[in-house]
Amino acid sequence: MDTTTRPAPIRPTQPKVGIVSLGCPKALVDSERIITRLRAEGYQIAPDYSGADLVLVNTCGFLDSARDESLEAIGEAIEANGKVIVTGCLGAEPDVIEKAHPKVLAITGPHQYEAVMDAVHTHLTPPHNPHLDLVPEAGLRLTPRHYAYLKISEGCNNRCSFCIIPKLRGDLVSRPIHHVLTEAEQLVKAGVKELLVISQDTSAYGLDVRYKPETWRGTEYETRFLDLAKGLGSLGVWTRMHYVYPYPHVDAVIPMMAEGLITPYLDIPFQHASANVLKAMKRPAKQDKVLERIQQWRRDVPELAIRSTFIVGFPGETEEDFEILLDFIREAKIDRAGCFQYENVAHADSRTLPDHVPDEVKEDRWHRFMQVQAEVSAARAKAQVGTVQDVIVDGADEEPGIMIARTKADAPDVDAVVYLDNATHLRPGDIVPAKITGADDYTFTRRLPERASAHQPSALRPGADPSASPSCGYRLRVSLARPVRAGRRDKVERVHIRTPG
Ligand code: SF4
Repeated sequence: MDTTTRPAPIRPTQPKVGIVSLGCPKALVDSERIITRLRAEGYQIAPDYSGADLVLVNTCGFLDSARDESLEAIGEAIEANGKVIVTGCLGAEPDVIEKAHPKVLAITGPHQYEAVMDAVHTHLTPPHNPHLDLVPEAGLRLTPRHYAYLKISEGCNNRCSFCIIPKLRGDLVSRPIHHVLTEAEQLVKAGVKELLVISQDTSAYGLDVRYKPETWRGTEYETRFLDLAKGLGSLGVWTRMHYVYPYPHVDAVIPMMAEGLITPYLDIPFQHASANVLKAMKRPAKQDKVLERIQQWRRDVPELAIRSTFIVGFPGETEEDFEILLDFIREAKIDRAGCFQYENVAHADSRTLPDHVPDEVKEDRWHRFMQVQAEVSAARAKAQVGTVQDVIVDGADEEPGIMIARTKADAPDVDAVVYLDNATHLRPGDIVPAKITGADDYTFTRRLPERASAHQPSALRPGADPSASPSCGYRLRVSLARPVRAGRRDKVERVHIRTPG
């Protein structure tokens, strides 16, 4: 267990709160903030239901399946503990929760930290001495010590027709850039080697505050994507940009990747490539010239890795639209991809669109998509064999003597991994050069997201599972990227769940 997430010794007199964190990395960051507040006020974080005086369930409500999972988790917590407060995305629909679980003590919506704390105070008397346990300056985290999610904004100004995130989380609210950079600096001081920038639309950062300038370390930075990259790039750690849209201004960050200031990795949730489907989806970035832009990026930064997510079987998607999508992933050479069959989410505008695609057609297209993506990814992986790359160590494999690491092309939990032989002297967070000696074929599996056997309070797991539903929460189909291998090993089963942004 990571020291930053280890609960302080339980003192019998201190009230104890258990946390169950479901959903995407943005929800995980919300849970981290709540835990930090709780600890700062002297509450203890309980290791299990029976040790908790009260359980807080941070829910996901993006897809019907995620809502069901959240309701199930609430029921489990009520049965095991009895005192339950609910927060998070599903909290935006209190009637749904109250109907299923009338015994819930209180319900608050996403990122309503004050309301959550008020509810905790009401149902569990605050401790007398709030300073029994000091909280690290960088706050308490649910990820391993060597990487951290950095949330730069809440909400979204886009209105993609399949997505209910703006209804749940509201419009874009950017955090002031000097606050974000200060938090990043504190994380780095606390031992973080890799920052993962998250939001609903990272490239739109600052739009709501008209790119307001702020001062950090004596230098003026505008609240915008490029200045954010400049500030983070000065911290000397890996910085990975997630949920970036291919707006022209993203081009300006590519030279920073070439200079090694920003990790050459872009997570761009394209969702589709056909103009007809993108229009029906009401996607924010036009697909015009996207291929040309990607090709130019690759010329400037040959090691650039692009991750994306796609939806097949969107209402109105024709066979021709689908072929356009397949051509796109072949030509763009998307390195990592998640693919999801369209799901008719409650309250989504796309429900009313004409020409819904039959399930069997969605299923067939999903298989065809994954087959083509498998070929593209396999070719990309094989091209890396023989190269020497810096890898960041995540921890020991189950197989003795093997350490698991990642290249710059791989984000934690959702991408490929590297297996290092004879590297047990290394520690999580170490960054070392490794020669890639082999690459497994890219293969995939399809499984519904596994339910944890129990929703153990996540502060007590060695890092919550942010792969459970990153980004907007699509979580019905999963892609399994086979690892680039630096050593011998034949088979690895890891389920990576990706979601659109
Ligand atoms: S899919 Fe992403 S960009 Fe589109 S509305 Fe939802 S959160 Fe915003």
